[in-house]
This record gives sequence, structure tokens and C-alpha cells, in this order.
Amino acid sequence: MKVLITGGAGFIGSHLAETLLKKGEEVYCIDDLSTGRLQNVQHLRHHPQFHLAVETILNESVMDRLVSECDVIYHLAAAVGVELIVKSPVETIQRNILGTDVVLRLANRYLRKVLIASTSEVYGKSEAVPFGEDDDRVLGPTTKSRWSYSSSKAIDEFLALAYHKEKNLETVIMRLFNTVGPRQTGRYGMVIPRLVQQALRGDPLTVYGDGGQVRCFTFVEDVVDAAIRLMETPAAVGQVFNIGNNQGITIAELAEKIKALTGSQSEIVYIPYEQAYEEGFEDMRIRIPDLSKAKRVIGYEPKTKLDQILVRVIDHFRNHEQETR
Ligand code: UDP
Repeated sequence: MKVLITGGAGFIGSHLAETLLKKGEEVYCIDDLSTGRLQNVQHLRHHPQFHLAVETILNESVMDRLVSECDVIYHLAAAVGVELIVKSPVETIQRNILGTDVVLRLANRYLRKVLIASTSEVYGKSEAVPFGEDDDRVLGPTTKSRWSYSSSKAIDEFLALAYHKEKNLETVIMRLFNTVGPRQTGRYGMVIPRLVQQALRGDPLTVYGDGGQVRCFTFVEDVVDAAIRLMETPAAVGQVFNIGNNQGITIAELAEKIKALTGSQSEIVYIPYEQAYEEGFEDMRIRIPDLSKAKRVIGYEPKTKLDQILVRVIDHFRNHEQETR
């Protein structure tokens, strides 16, 4: 089978490429290296079944060729990271909405099945946890740029569901909760790589707000397994699935855990949101998925516990010291 991964040099895309190659698939990746990195796929570049195009998914002629040549598409290319989104809202909106439009239009032209990576951000600031796929969304005003991310990914979901309903295109939506693992960079805000790097450098661990906000962290390999299963399961077509972990932890507790696991002497500092992001920034207080649908349809169960995830991330940064500097 020939598989196209948009965002294939990204954190999740590169792990997906690796797993699909191990399964014997021929993997085509397209990545404009905006947040993806060549070093993420360096170890795959000489694999005879791995192909990479360094190009934006907005280039329709390149995408037309790739989509026509591949059997299925994993659409992962998107603007990622709250810090990046707050700083570059125009790019976020364009990249997410126009990019998905290109992918779905071409998938429909060649009748290719598409899995769309969406995000738990679509639930917004609802506190009605655990979030079920059909729950209401609670969003802030358009004057707060964070909400553009949630809205842009929701448009992607609407469009994918519309293509399925109206044109019978096979689409599946995977709503990802906080995903972590080796190769994720802290550059765009993600808390675990940031705190681990700070701890290893001996710098203060920066906890934003009062540290009482709750997140659940999923290991990237659990997400990759779920993505492949969603793609392979006919009953998943035309549906939305939460993929994550449902064991919550506060960010303050997370910082303590990282300090202990790294043996770091760093202090933990609390930074107000307006200083970390921008004036009036709104965070999600709590984010926990209801995983019962994914369990029922694809037998999904996150296997990796937070401590194991942290050990893997710490080992990664210890072995790639240059990324920690
Ligand atoms: N966060 C933090 N310190 C950091 C980076 C992030 O306390 O250096 C917080 C952030 O404000 C949020 C949580 O950690 O409440 C998770 O942030 P991340 O950007 O990883 O993902 P999000 O859940 O916001 O999409």
C-alpha cells in the first residue's frame, strides 16, 4: 500500500512514517518544515520505501501528484503549539483551513480515504469533563487569537464530515489530546519538552498560571497505533474519535514529577499567563477525554503511563544534548 502523510517530518508524522515503514508500506511524506524538522526523519531517508517532498500542502500540483499516486492519506500537516498560534494567527488560520481544503478536494478527486488529525482544542474551555465527541463546544471571543485554532480545526472537521455526507468520501477524524514523546520540541509551547529541557539545564521550571490546570498526556506511539487502526476500520468512516489518555495531572504536579525524575535542583517558578502568552490569554482549566467510543470501535486503550512517557522524553533529551541547549 502507498500511504501519504502530510506533515510527515513533524513530531507525530515522523513516528507514524516509521511505524508504517515497519509494516511494509510505501510512505510518501510532504512537509514544508515550518514546524517539522529534517532531523525527525533523518534515520528514514535512505529507506527504499520512504519518500519526502519538502513542499507546502498548498502547492496543488505537487499535492495532486502525491494524492493520485497514494492509496490513503493521513492529514497531519497543521499549525501547532499554543505559543505559535498566539503569535501567528493569520498563518494558523490559513494553513489549517486552506490546507485541509486542498487535501479533501484532491482526496475526493481520486477517491482516497483520509484521516484528519484534529485536536481537543475544539472543545474549547468547557469544563464538562470527560469530553464526549458529541458534546457542545465552549469558545471565547474572536478577539482572543487562541480560539482561532479551535475554530480552524473545527472547520476542518466540518469539511471532512461534509465530504463524507454529501460526496460519500471516506473520511475519519481523530481528535488528539496532549500528545508527547521523543522528537517533540518545546519551541512552540508544549509543556513536557519545555519542563524536561529546563530541568536538565538546571533552569527554573516555568509553570504558567497557578499550575492547577489539568491535562492528560498520551504517548505518541499509542496515538500512531490508534491512527492506523482508525484508518483500517471501516466502521470508523464518517466519525469523530477522541484519542488520548484519561489520567489527569495538574501542571504543578507535573513539574514536581519532572524535577524528581531528572534529579534536577531547578526551582519551580509560577509565571502569569499574560506574561507567558499575551494580555487576556485564556487557558483550558481541565481537559480529559471520554475514550469509550474509541475503545468500542477500534479497541483503543492507551498503554503508556505518564512516568514511562517522561522517562522516554528525558532519555531522548539526554541523548540529544544539543536540543537541550
Ligand atoms: N504550560 C506551562 N509551562 C510551559 C508551557 C506550558 O505551565 O512552559 C502550561 C500551559 O499553559 C497549559 C499546559 O501547560 O496549561 C499545557 O500546555 P501545552 O502548550 O503543552 O498544551 P495545551 O494543553 O495548552 O494545548
